[in-house]
Amino acid sequence: MIVAMTGISGNMGREALAQTLELGFVERVKVLLTPKKRNDKLLKKLKKAYGGRVEAVRGRISDASACGQLVEGADIVVNMAAVIPPRSDKNANASYLCNQIGAMRLADAVASMPKQAKLVHISTVAVYGNRTMQHPWGRVGDPLLPAVYDHYAMHKMMAERYVIESGVEHWAVLRQTAMLYDGIIFANISDGLLFHTTLNGPLEWVTARDSGYLIKRIIEREHGGEIENFWNKVYDITGGHMNRRTGYDTFADGFSIMGGSPKAYFKPNWCQTRNFHGMWYANSSLNDMFGYQRESVAQFWAAIGKKYAFFKLARILPPSVIGLFVFRRLLGDENAPAKWIKQGNIGKVTAAYGGMERAHALTNRWDKFTLISSKECGGNSECPAAEYSDMLLSHGYDESKGEEEWTLEDMNEAAAFRGGKCLSKEYSAGQKLLWQCSEGHTFMAKPYTVLGAGHWCPFCSPEPWKYDMLAKKSPYIAQVWYDSHDKSENFSYWFDKEGNACIERLPEDEV
Ligand SMILES: [Zn+2]
Repeated sequence: MIVAMTGISGNMGREALAQTLELGFVERVKVLLTPKKRNDKLLKKLKKAYGGRVEAVRGRISDASACGQLVEGADIVVNMAAVIPPRSDKNANASYLCNQIGAMRLADAVASMPKQAKLVHISTVAVYGNRTMQHPWGRVGDPLLPAVYDHYAMHKMMAERYVIESGVEHWAVLRQTAMLYDGIIFANISDGLLFHTTLNGPLEWVTARDSGYLIKRIIEREHGGEIENFWNKVYDITGGHMNRRTGYDTFADGFSIMGGSPKAYFKPNWCQTRNFHGMWYANSSLNDMFGYQRESVAQFWAAIGKKYAFFKLARILPPSVIGLFVFRRLLGDENAPAKWIKQGNIGKVTAAYGGMERAHALTNRWDKFTLISSKECGGNSECPAAEYSDMLLSHGYDESKGEEEWTLEDMNEAAAFRGGKCLSKEYSAGQKLLWQCSEGHTFMAKPYTVLGAGHWCPFCSPEPWKYDMLAKKSPYIAQVWYDSHDKSENFSYWFDKEGNACIERLPEDEV
């Protein structure tokens, strides 16, 4: 078997490559590496460890000819390339080229092979947008509402849609959840991104090791001819009930290896209160299929504490010193919500807190701030779909039907729930249909893209972000949007050409 991979210098890709090479039947893994110097070193290391079993194609994923070279002769292609936050926040173009255009080029390259490879495309939980404890449980088919100003989520959403709609015969889209990797503390104490986390938001973690193991298992079971049912669907990569936390719990876990806590290191109003992403998963169909969930958050942090024993040194310092030198200095970072407040960046502050007034009114005292514990909300429940079914979002059609039983009626029902219409008058399984959104845009999409995967109008969903307006017409969006937004809000958010965050209240007649 020949496997092709992108993104192997990333945390998931590194694990996926190493673990895939444990499979004896994998003759060769072709890897795409950008022409960066850092990658010369990486390639040398790989060659030393694996010899001819690793073959590098040097180039960028946005380059069609590099993609063509990479996928040539491959049986499975795994796209793990990503420009993630904070880099994507600072460089929208890099995010666009890698996360969207790159994914499109790769899918095109696969589709144009005489004998097509099967494509595993890694997407992200960020496509779902913000969740609170009103609807912590999520699943594939829920509305896709990438956070306002989040290039990464927007580009990843457009990319997975392209894969689903492409001419690739066998594809799978896997939406990766929050991922723990060995360098996570170092990566997060250098950017204001840390404070984008909502303290009371649901997060379900998986480790990079288990994510890599998932890829290995997919390749292994595909080789055994065991997973025909797996292909042509979207999945969430989930972490399991032992890995469900809130934002606050996550900080508490991480800081405990330094002998500290969020309460000792920072203030509750340093974190935004909405416009983040993360959820708990109502099912774990991917784990049922591949049994990849092995590592718990608790085991992960225990291992980190051992590996980086110097974190223990932090224990001899008073927590206030760490708070001051590690965390308080992040408040001045361009990516920190506190900086946006100081700068009077009304767009970013409104997206993150619901307005300048609310941001100023938020308490800086932990004793005045209500923390929700994940246990109280059923975070530890092993079988959430059964226990919390009344908290699941509706997808607007009879979900007890399997995809093979769908009819035009289901399409009409689903479209109406999204504030639009299905304009096609005939339904034939898998064939693209003509749809119309609440704003009058028309677009073609497969039934599965809409009903199964949660995509809707491609003209409405990217910039400018107008969810306030769309929610007024779409019960599908409204059911989750108003968990963290007021019905009185009616904003349009966008970036100007210089990359400044802009906001404007829409006139009521646009409602
Ligand atoms: Zn539209």
